[in-house]
Amino acid sequence: MKILISTDIEGVAGVFHAEQVRAGNGEYERARAWMTAEANAAVQGAIAGGAEEILVNDSHGGFRNLLPDGLDERVRLVLGKPRYLGMMGGLEEGCDAVFMIGYHSRSQGRGILAHTINSFAFARVLINGMELGEAGLYGALAGEMGVPVILGTGDDVFIAETRDTFPGAEWVQTKVAHGQGSGITLSPAASRRAIAAAAETAVRNLKKQAPVPFRIPAPIECRLQTQSSALADLFCMWPTLERVDGVTLRFTTDSMQSAVRTLNSLAAMSFMLR
Ligand SMILES: [Zn+2]
Repeated sequence: MKILISTDIEGVAGVFHAEQVRAGNGEYERARAWMTAEANAAVQGAIAGGAEEILVNDSHGGFRNLLPDGLDERVRLVLGKPRYLGMMGGLEEGCDAVFMIGYHSRSQGRGILAHTINSFAFARVLINGMELGEAGLYGALAGEMGVPVILGTGDDVFIAETRDTFPGAEWVQTKVAHGQGSGITLSPAASRRAIAAAAETAVRNLKKQAPVPFRIPAPIECRLQTQSSALADLFCMWPTLERVDGVTLRFTTDSMQSAVRTLNSLAAMSFMLR
């Protein structure tokens, strides 16, 4: 059994504020240690459940938040950007299942630090009419590669909007959201204990019967609502993108990998307007 553990930071216990998730802040240095500790809890549980090989993917911001010297020595670490598979980097090697640790709910919802890929650029992302956040988009990318998501951790809003996408997965609620920047959190220690237990269960269940991967059949239509019309102007410089209205554009493609790579390229372009 080979597991890819994709780790974000907004869903980690104790994390509520933008300063905690942005490099260059004192509070961030503490939060990235909690993120590393939740990744380790997932590793510990996965190995207890029978995982033989683990890749840990750093999936937040610049993809270099986890502290390599604080990470369980039994794993290898996927770091840095750009990379084609983004939050699923590591699946190129072939994996049996994915954990999503410290994930968050999608943009425009009421979850803690809710956003979709890039909070400055994207307001809503719809694939074939389904509104998806990062978990749904990357879960579909993993699904296209035949890999199911078997564990998700984050706040209650994230779990409520994602649960039906990955039937058979385990879930750990680290926080209850009261809004974008407030809520109630487990202590980091309690969160780690719950994540380790759920990771062990998830891998044990996987050995009995693998869940069906989340697949979105091609052709893929992506409809994207931007945070401003200036962003839509910029993105539509790309000739295969079609303007729908002031803040909406669309493109069609043949795979989720292509859709996710296009979205990440647009996110990179958006830095021009910051
Ligand atoms: Zn993040």
